[in-house]
Amino acid sequence: MKFYIKTYGCSFNQADSENIEAFLQKNGHERVESEEKAEVVIFNTCGVKDSTENRIVNDIKKCGKKIIATGCLVQAQPDKISVLKKDISLVGTFDNIKILDALTSKGVWIRKGLNVPSKPKLNGLVSTIQVSTGCLGNCTFCQTKLARGSLKSFDESKIVKNMEGLAEKGCREFRLTSQDLGCYGFDAGTSLPSLLEKIVEIKGNFKVRLGMMNPEHAIQIKNDLVKFLKNDKIYNFIHIPVQSGSDAVLEKMNRNYTISEFKELIGFLKSNSKDLTIETDLIVGFPTESRDDFNETLQLMNEVKFDIVNLSKFSARKNTPAALMKQLNKNEIKKRSVEASAVYKRISLEKNTEMVGRVEKVTVIEKARGLMLSRTKSYKPVLVNAELGEEFFVKITSAGQSHLIGERLLNNEY
Ligand code: SF4
Repeated sequence: MKFYIKTYGCSFNQADSENIEAFLQKNGHERVESEEKAEVVIFNTCGVKDSTENRIVNDIKKCGKKIIATGCLVQAQPDKISVLKKDISLVGTFDNIKILDALTSKGVWIRKGLNVPSKPKLNGLVSTIQVSTGCLGNCTFCQTKLARGSLKSFDESKIVKNMEGLAEKGCREFRLTSQDLGCYGFDAGTSLPSLLEKIVEIKGNFKVRLGMMNPEHAIQIKNDLVKFLKNDKIYNFIHIPVQSGSDAVLEKMNRNYTISEFKELIGFLKSNSKDLTIETDLIVGFPTESRDDFNETLQLMNEVKFDIVNLSKFSARKNTPAALMKQLNKNEIKKRSVEASAVYKRISLEKNTEMVGRVEKVTVIEKARGLMLSRTKSYKPVLVNAELGEEFFVKITSAGQSHLIGERLLNNEY
């Protein structure tokens, strides 16, 4: 059967889609490049934001093909999706292999609590590696927890073996992904540092991007982190979601750290890893967020100067504790989001502009905007004119808010 997968949300979901794709191809089905060419469309859904949920609902309603829906939104709110189309099949996040059955029959396959490690594949020069699923948190705003459950770390030796195979096939960038990379192995008698120790020994010319890790777990492994961030095989990049700059809000979110602990962590990482790129996630308009709380978030942004901020307007997710709290006015949330976004854009442009004139070694990883996207050791995106996989020095000639432009240098120019 000809199938097309539409993926929403994070890199973890992206990896799930790649896994589904490889599994269906192995079983004789054909992946096509567009919804129009497909006999069946698989929607791999995400339940993090209201806006994404609305997009998924609209896309499913518009789709005239046979539909299979899977992913976090399906696992957490199957009823929301099942009513959209008469013949829709639903497959939960723990039952991906049932998509094979769903291709030929209509049904609902949703169970709780099983976790299946994925078989990663090479997508161009990049491979997304799921190292665990679920988490140890209970954040009051989060629906992902309802869909993915508690932490289940995948087998360290299998992860390494998969990566060895992919490195041999020419993988240049591994993206380690999970709901919380920092607690990898806490349920299995191992840890992220132990996994990284083995990964950096894998033969090949590649770099690893560390995925999102919560502050409380990053704090526990901070000494190891700075050691690995210096390693040639690990990007000097970290993604630590702080969510709010206010202790009062963090408490209501049920996050397990304070702002002073977070700042201490960032200070430690920055002072030990020169040119570290820091990404974070922020939610504005959480139900209990006062104007003063929000100002503390702005203050944190100005102080830490994050390179990348994934900014979300709070939207109540069904069946979460935060959905039962008294909600803020939507216009106020929007106003705060616009304000925070302006601060983020100003800071990221300033930081990127500081890079103009610098000489950096880059590797060309993927195509973007009609040019090629290369990455520095600090995972800064540099648009260049070159071939995939090439490695060379560039001079940064200009900067935008989300990227840099680089000019390739000849051997005698650096
Ligand atoms: S740590 Fe919190 S935000 Fe992250 S997946 Fe778990 S419950 Fe959700």
